[in-house]
Amino acid sequence: MINHKLPFDYADEPLPKGFTNDNLLVNVFEKAVKVVMKRIFCKKCGAELIRSREVLLSSPMKYQYRCEKCNTDYISVTSYPAICFVEEDNNE
Ligand SMILES: [Zn+2]
Repeated sequence: MINHKLPFDYADEPLPKGFTNDNLLVNVFEKAVKVVMKRIFCKKCGAELIRSREVLLSSPMKYQYRCEKCNTDYISVTSYPAICFVEEDNNE
C-alpha cells in the first residue's frame, strides 16, 4: 500500500466555519485491484438472467430478472451484470 502525503486538497479555498487545517484530508492510499464483471444465472436451468426494465421503488431499490429459458422470475437489490473491484490477492 502506497501512502501519498499531499500537502492540501483544499488549497486556495477558505475553510468552512468550524474547520481548521487539522480537518483537511491529506492521507490518500492507493492499492492495485482488478476489475471483474459479475453475472447471474438461473438457479433452475443455469441460463444467464436478463434484467427487466422495471425497478421496484422500495428502499433499497430492487431489480427484477427473468430467465428467458424457463420463465422463472428473480429479484435482487443489485443490478447485474455488475462491475466490481477486487483485491489482486482475493480469490473471489
Ligand atoms: Zn431458468
